[in-house]
Amino acid sequence: MKQASVLNPDLTMSEIRMPEGLLLLDGKLSGASPSARRIDVLNPATGEFITTIPACTAADVDHAVMAAHRCFESQAWQSMRPLDRGRLLERLALLIEEHAEELAQLESLDSGKLLSVTRMIDIPFAIEALRYFAGWSSKISGEYIALSPLVQDGASYRAYTERKPMGVVGGITPWNFPLGQAIQKLAPAIACGCTVVLKPSEETSLTTLRLGELILEAGFPAGAVNIVTGYGHDAGAALVEHPLVRKISFTGSTATGQRIWAAAAPTMKRVTLELGGKSPTIILADADLTRAVPGAAAAIFSNSGQICTAGSRLLIEAAVYEEVIAGVADIARTLKLGAGADPQAQIGPLISARQRDRVAGLVRSSLDEGAVALAGGDMIGEAGWFYQPTVLTEVSREMPVMREEVFGPVVCALRIEEPSQLVDLANDTPYGLAASIWTRDLERAHLLADRIDAGTVWLNTHNVLDLAVPFGGRKLSGVGREFGSEAIQAYTEPKAVCMRLDRGAMVGY
Ligand code: NAD
Repeated sequence: MKQASVLNPDLTMSEIRMPEGLLLLDGKLSGASPSARRIDVLNPATGEFITTIPACTAADVDHAVMAAHRCFESQAWQSMRPLDRGRLLERLALLIEEHAEELAQLESLDSGKLLSVTRMIDIPFAIEALRYFAGWSSKISGEYIALSPLVQDGASYRAYTERKPMGVVGGITPWNFPLGQAIQKLAPAIACGCTVVLKPSEETSLTTLRLGELILEAGFPAGAVNIVTGYGHDAGAALVEHPLVRKISFTGSTATGQRIWAAAAPTMKRVTLELGGKSPTIILADADLTRAVPGAAAAIFSNSGQICTAGSRLLIEAAVYEEVIAGVADIARTLKLGAGADPQAQIGPLISARQRDRVAGLVRSSLDEGAVALAGGDMIGEAGWFYQPTVLTEVSREMPVMREEVFGPVVCALRIEEPSQLVDLANDTPYGLAASIWTRDLERAHLLADRIDAGTVWLNTHNVLDLAVPFGGRKLSGVGREFGSEAIQAYTEPKAVCMRLDRGAMVGY
């Protein structure tokens, strides 16, 4: 292939290392079963064809799960020292570091993300997550429990708990942080002694397929990690329904999360569900606007709004309302749209024509109902799936654009007339993922944070995620938490061991 790269005009496509397009099954790179169809991979910046990936069938998923199950049950895996599981993760981190530029380019090409972002955030996050959880592998412990036996038989009783790995974990990931999300599932699972089957989004599977090649090179035992690609309703559903999968860790939309939770019930699978959001960015009248205005713009326009924690509802106290919306709209109008590797681009395309059309439909219906687009409000460009950074005012609480997750660069601004409205407006959403509060008044900030019904509240910042800080949502934003010690709890379950020590054994002591 010698066509010029849209990613970087100086690079040809042949210089961007493509994965072989093979699945990782039982320690080998393999094709899918002969009946599997292929899925076209398109470049979001141009709509051009890049390559194809397998649409795995239930038989392929079964092959992967059986391999993960055999590995989990094997003596070699069960007796592997925790530090050695950590070493596998460290070796993978080193390999990703060695291939960081190639992976950053591939991620940018496949997802439309800015190359500067994949270089500075996606790939470094994947490396750090592997190292963070490598450290955890040797620090997982249970507890000693003092007993109060009802039968006083003169014996002594003791109990302890161990944190036991769940078993085979199915990791199902979305399009917006493909490699990072794959590692976010894989690293804590392996640290805890689980084995894994990953199913990336059909929209962005390329870096996860390349990850499979690096996992082989890192020397993971056969079956410890397996990778299948394909559609959610086929491959994803087969993974969720498989009786040997003990846990599903899913990141994606709320509608799919609900389907997965229901499908997991018959086999009582454990689930972690990281779902959608409609997070408020709250700007109080005393905020430092030199930070709050660019902060609010970054909260919604980063990654073209395709971030689950995007600050898509902008709640502004009346005294600074006009200044804030004018400032955010100015930023929206000046952001330069472009392909991932265009060094001038500040915002990339949306993932697909379908997603772009959904965003456009939500905005159009709100404009029809009386909303005003202070900036943007339309699709842009002849090729690729770009949407203008958009600031909507005169929105009502009932409009779908205010209630549904848009997952695009669209923010709805609301004026807060009375401080007493704040908590009610902030929590007026079925979601509960995140919120940010911008103010100089620390007392008010903490009191407000206390009342916001969300998994994360940021003060004077937005979208700061750290591997050590638990992350997840309340209400329709999900079930369970990832990151930090919570992730270790999520991939293990306590086993209690209780013993009777006969005092007679003390004779002679
Ligand atoms: P999606 O729900 O359409 O798909 C996510 C994954 O689920 C894909 O791999 C898909 O193939 C698979 N899938 C679809 N149907 C399935 C089924 N029936 N059974 C099993 N798997 C199935 O989500 P998306 O559109 O790829 O991603 C965008 C969504 O992800 C947004 O709603 C966003 O908020 C959410 N998200 C949440 C977080 C978080 O941490 N809370 C992070 C990133 C993205």
